[in-house]
Amino acid sequence: MALALYRKYRPATFAEVVGQEHVTEPLCTALAAKRVNHAYLFSGPRGCGKTSSARILARSLNCVNGPTPTPCGVCNSCVGLAPEGPGSVDVVELDAASHGGVDDARELRDKAFYAPAESRYRVFIIDEAHMVTTQGFNALLKIVEEPPDHLVFIFATTEPDKVLPTIRSRTHHYPFRLIPPGAMRGLLERNCAEEGVEVEPAVFPLVIRAGGGSARDTQSVLDQLLAGAGPGGVTYERAVALLGVTDVGLIDDIVDGLVAGDGPAVFGTVDRLVEAGHDPRRFTGDLLERLRDLVLLKAVPDAADKGLVAVPEDELNRMRAQADKLGPATLTRYAEILHAGLIEMRGATAPRLLVELLCSRMLLPAASATDAAVLQRIEGLERRVTLAPTTAGAEERPVYQRPAQRAEPVADVAPAEPVAVPAAPAPAAAAAPPADAPVGSMDSTAVRQIWPELLRKVGERSKPTLVLLQNATVRTVEGNTLVLAMPTAGLARQLSQESRAEVIRATLRDLVAGDWQIRCVHGDGNAPADSPGAARRPATPPTRQRPAEPPAARTPPPAPAPVAPPVPPAPAAPVEVMPPLPEPPDDLDDYDEPPMDEPVPVPQIQRDPETAAVDMLTEQLRARRIGP
Ligand SMILES: [Zn+2]
Repeated sequence: MALALYRKYRPATFAEVVGQEHVTEPLCTALAAKRVNHAYLFSGPRGCGKTSSARILARSLNCVNGPTPTPCGVCNSCVGLAPEGPGSVDVVELDAASHGGVDDARELRDKAFYAPAESRYRVFIIDEAHMVTTQGFNALLKIVEEPPDHLVFIFATTEPDKVLPTIRSRTHHYPFRLIPPGAMRGLLERNCAEEGVEVEPAVFPLVIRAGGGSARDTQSVLDQLLAGAGPGGVTYERAVALLGVTDVGLIDDIVDGLVAGDGPAVFGTVDRLVEAGHDPRRFTGDLLERLRDLVLLKAVPDAADKGLVAVPEDELNRMRAQADKLGPATLTRYAEILHAGLIEMRGATAPRLLVELLCSRMLLPAASATDAAVLQRIEGLERRVTLAPTTAGAEERPVYQRPAQRAEPVADVAPAEPVAVPAAPAPAAAAAPPADAPVGSMDSTAVRQIWPELLRKVGERSKPTLVLLQNATVRTVEGNTLVLAMPTAGLARQLSQESRAEVIRATLRDLVAGDWQIRCVHGDGNAPADSPGAARRPATPPTRQRPAEPPAARTPPPAPAPVAPPVPPAPAAPVEVMPPLPEPPDDLDDYDEPPMDEPVPVPQIQRDPETAAVDMLTEQLRARRIGP
């Protein structure tokens, strides 16, 4: 029978104990200085090396060269006390769970007075020391208080508080901790290398999470995966299936859907999740873990380097993008909803239904009157405000532009940068002929999956387009038209420019083939940047009103364009909210228009969240309004 990993790779010296340096280093120093105490207390969660360390301490004390932090490994005592060795007569290990009574303690006390048979010390390792009864401890008290010189007690326990205080006060207390993911990963990788089994890197975080910081539990999980490994080693798919964790792709899909406010994508993902046989409770827990990671990424930008978030590099980039698009209040609110949902799910008969309700609660902050929901709504508004510079002059306030007026801003900029060739104002994008749609098989979820790749490739072609595109979220795919949502109409207009759209189209062609069209909408997508979107919108219930939109916002500006009003000087424009351009690229043509120096509409055009919520309820959930 194969030896379990945690026994096979049990540490034999303090240097091999993983993740407990705060304990092993002072112990080594004390051993090196021959400062030996008569009683030690090792406390900490299970499976993190207390008992192993107690054995190592006994080995280090009784080595012929001892006490030493580096036992020789060849003397009688070292061989006997090696991890799989036969043991030593002078080292007695007993489990207080079965020998915690007063009689056992008396017997132990009597034995303890005999001098060691062949070693320097008689060592008693008392495991599960919290199980020793009070009478048992009292029987031991005398010998722990005034021990003979040859005697060493090592108490190991998960609950140091239950050890009699008079005993505890006579021990040196070394608290063990759960093993941090970074150290655990190193251990697992060494184990796999020794076993000669290939394990996909993405598997390790799953195993580490499943082990919960205990080396023994983690190694047991890995053991099981290694046992079932095929010729290709342990694959991510197999680990996901065996550990019952949710495929990270599903988590990505649902978070991307939440970021975009895309109801169909979110509920579609829940459907796929249930179809794939995942446990909705487990999924909720895993999604909560993801949100925790996103909150941390938001609060600690280098969380990955500090080991706070343990995910592979490609996944990390994706998560950074997600964290960028969700504010802290939104993330926190999502996490609270999920956490409450997990409690509700205990014993629930229809967990799927609950997951769907949780998703709808996350999607509809306006449907809730709690502080968290209000904060989320404010955050959305703030994001739009910060993206719209306040330099927009009174006359230059093209709050809402129809395609007919779209040519004008380009003409505005042309004198400032004569190199720029004013492109046709994205009529192709608006045309969107869905005739022979070879790309129809891709939906918005699929596009979101290739989004990071798309961003990278677009960046290779045109940095300014990339900067614009980083503000975009995938709203939907209609036939072969990719609809992108931008935070403001101005940004949407810039991205709609033919040259930019062409970059995106060409990149999409390279990535997924097909003849794509790009259309940009802005805000929450209900106020499209060009007219076809408006035509596409379903008839709205007659009761709906748009109180938040002043009529002026709808009227086009009084024909300012042909006169070509003076343009604010391009370089002096405030760009603080945009990510800094990495470096001046070679293709200066692309610099015809730095993204932020154009007047961009201020957020009055943004719809009232109440109205948006009502729309969403009507469209996504088929709700009908009751009463006026
Ligand atoms: Zn030795």
